[in-house]
Amino acid sequence: MAEPAASPGWSVTVLGVAQDGGLPHPGCECPRCSAARDGRRRREKVACLGLTDGRRAFLVDATPDLAEQMHALGAAIASAKASAGDPSAPRVRTPDGVLLTHAHMGHYVGLAWLGKEALGARGFTIHGTPRMGDFLATNAPWRALFDEGRATFDARSPVDLGGVVAEAIPVPHRQEFTDAVAWRIRGPRGSVLWLPDIDSWDAWDLDVRDVVASVDVAFLDATFYADGELGHRDRREIPHPRVVETMRRLAGLGDRVRLIHLNHTNPLWDDPSPAAALGFRVAREGETFPI
Ligand SMILES: [Zn+2]
Ligand SMILES: [Zn+2]
Ligand SMILES: [Zn+2]
Repeated sequence: MAEPAASPGWSVTVLGVAQDGGLPHPGCECPRCSAARDGRRRREKVACLGLTDGRRAFLVDATPDLAEQMHALGAAIASAKASAGDPSAPRVRTPDGVLLTHAHMGHYVGLAWLGKEALGARGFTIHGTPRMGDFLATNAPWRALFDEGRATFDARSPVDLGGVVAEAIPVPHRQEFTDAVAWRIRGPRGSVLWLPDIDSWDAWDLDVRDVVASVDVAFLDATFYADGELGHRDRREIPHPRVVETMRRLAGLGDRVRLIHLNHTNPLWDDPSPAAALGFRVAREGETFPI
């Protein structure tokens, strides 16, 4: 009798790295966006993390690129299962659940792909804060996901996803529609933090050094590299810690940090990135970590 195929175990896979507007960014004709638009440089999907043990699959944030990221998640599962001796996995995967950080467009509008007009998914769970749940349940078109019986909302934190535990950690971030959280996810083999958006490290009631030190890999807001990067948009309108400051605060912890949520203006897109010399790395789409 054949041995049953080994489970590949839980892992996370980076499915996108860009800020909400993606790269190329709408309305921008900077050299980087132009190159992405006409194929001289790769396009970049909006920041998203996939989480799977080969049987269950979750997305952390529902981005405008969800349709493609669902396929990338399936491909990641297929390759993990193949390396564990099971070549049977399909190369596309509807998520069992989506963990949302907040209601800015890069982080939740991808839910639309799961609705009636596109995938018509059923039986999935949306995880987020109670305010996030209220926002979705009381606003069209999102409430149709619940009215049509497609999704249920789960505001528990920490919540056991079936062998890994996800914890929503409140973060200060412009609260136009909902509050905002980072997700800390712990599994039997490791732990990660997903923190795509925060107004500033000083405004947080936690010390970012302690939080980063509490996980194996911390995916952190790296929207803007330094002051003076924005030009046409006032930086007070879009507060984020600058990466130069983040690296200074996290000196010595660079090996556990992956920078995400890069704006199209960010010089970290260039290779080699200006952070590399200081021991910090930009997350790479397709990069996988066991947890
Ligand atoms: Zn964002
Ligand atoms: Zn641009
Ligand atoms: Zn945001």
